[in-house]
Amino acid sequence: MSVAVDQYGVFGHPVGHSFSPFIHGVFARDTGEQMSYRAYDVAPQEFGTRVQEFFSGGGRGLNITLPHKIAAVEVAQELTGRAAHAAAVNTLALQDDNVILGDNTDGAGLVRDLCDNLRLVITQRRLLILGAGGATRGVLAPILGLEPAIVVIANRTPERAEALAAAFADLGVTQGVGFAYVGDTPFDLIINATSASLSGDIPPIPAGAVGPETVCYDLAYGRSAMAFVRWAQQSGCALAVQGLGMLVEQAAESFRLWRGVRPETAEVLAALKRRIGSV
Ligand code: NAP
Repeated sequence: MSVAVDQYGVFGHPVGHSFSPFIHGVFARDTGEQMSYRAYDVAPQEFGTRVQEFFSGGGRGLNITLPHKIAAVEVAQELTGRAAHAAAVNTLALQDDNVILGDNTDGAGLVRDLCDNLRLVITQRRLLILGAGGATRGVLAPILGLEPAIVVIANRTPERAEALAAAFADLGVTQGVGFAYVGDTPFDLIINATSASLSGDIPPIPAGAVGPETVCYDLAYGRSAMAFVRWAQQSGCALAVQGLGMLVEQAAESFRLWRGVRPETAEVLAALKRRIGSV
């Protein structure tokens, strides 16, 4: 007789490229949790209905990826503080009282990768974040929680960087600028949260922003998104890394919310790096 297992999944559009089924499959196997996890291609106009159908059909939790992270805020019946700050949801969980909780584990995933996997110190360091889209908004509160000396947000459209810097000013020292106004003093950490790498572009920041001690971290990952990492290496940075660790760590945070156990991440991260040629 087959035993019904708890159902989980990821909603995206497109979603065929998603590594989440692989990651959560390994987590479930390693932790011995009885669950299934699959990817669902959901068009934007169907999103709300499909979420309701998933949960009323016995689903327990969902990851939410592009382009649904903002729509998921409306679908959630309750939000965690970090999801409210991010104004975006990447994880939905059906709680015991049948309330659908919306969380955002992206920022926690990035912080885990930076602090635990890469062993970087953020406190009192100077940070530069390139881009002022959804990813930057999602990681700002957890990053500012580590009390860096300053977070400069630079964006192609400077007004968006200025608006984000103002919106998070109560959490730490922030500044919003256009790329040309980043300055010539090397930063300790530069996080590329633009989608420029996906099209082979590099944000035009002054060369002096990178020094021999600077760590450069691109949220994008994989062989086809190497532009920023190559540029950083050629600029003489200390270390250039892609955001695969953030992806795995945010998944682990979601898994913990759903199942109450945090899986080990090192092996799945190493396996994925090998598989997609990420650095
Ligand atoms: P988004 O909301 O669409 O924002 C895109 C940002 O990139 C905007 O600030 C935009 O500037 C900027 N941009 C786009 N093309 C550019 C170019 N050619 N030159 C300079 N700036 C450019 O996207 P997002 O959701 O924030 O995602 C950003 C990146 O993070 C993506 O590569 C995504 O895959 C990655 N990400 C990774 C993870 C992970 O787990 N590793 C998680 C989340 C996101 P304007 O404001 O001027 O348009």
